[in-house]
Amino acid sequence: MNTYVTHGINLLRSKGFRITTARQQVLAILSETEAPLSPYDVVDYMSEKNQKTDAITVYRIFDCLEQNGLIHRILSSGKFVKCRIEAHTPHSQQQCCHHIAICDGCGTTREIHCHAPIHIPPIPDMIITGHRLELIGRCTSCQERFS
Ligand SMILES: [Zn+2]
Ligand SMILES: [Zn+2]
Ligand SMILES: [Zn+2]
Repeated sequence: MNTYVTHGINLLRSKGFRITTARQQVLAILSETEAPLSPYDVVDYMSEKNQKTDAITVYRIFDCLEQNGLIHRILSSGKFVKCRIEAHTPHSQQQCCHHIAICDGCGTTREIHCHAPIHIPPIPDMIITGHRLELIGRCTSCQERFS
């Protein structure tokens, strides 16, 4: 098993989640795939491999993986990519947040981590508890293609 799958299983286990076959299969598909995936894409991949599942099961698994920082939602498309941080040290979840930069030419994604609190003007009647951010850019090959 590769690092992503091993890490995912260890993390879920340490938080008391059962490691079901379906969870392992979904982690494996995420680890093999660079392109953003919807739960329906995962159902398709799994049926190609004769692995039985349905969209509701994959939605629930994605929910669990997202809450545990193993996947990130792409705000503009609603699809998901695996977290690409290498070693999931405490650093990875607590001291920084994870954002996706997406190429507007081909849809390839990169992950960035923001470490410092970002400066937001104070809002008098609201306490800000978090932020969602998505960056749009152009990857190297699209820069060449479009220039
Ligand atoms: Zn991440
Ligand atoms: Zn591109
Ligand atoms: Zn951030």
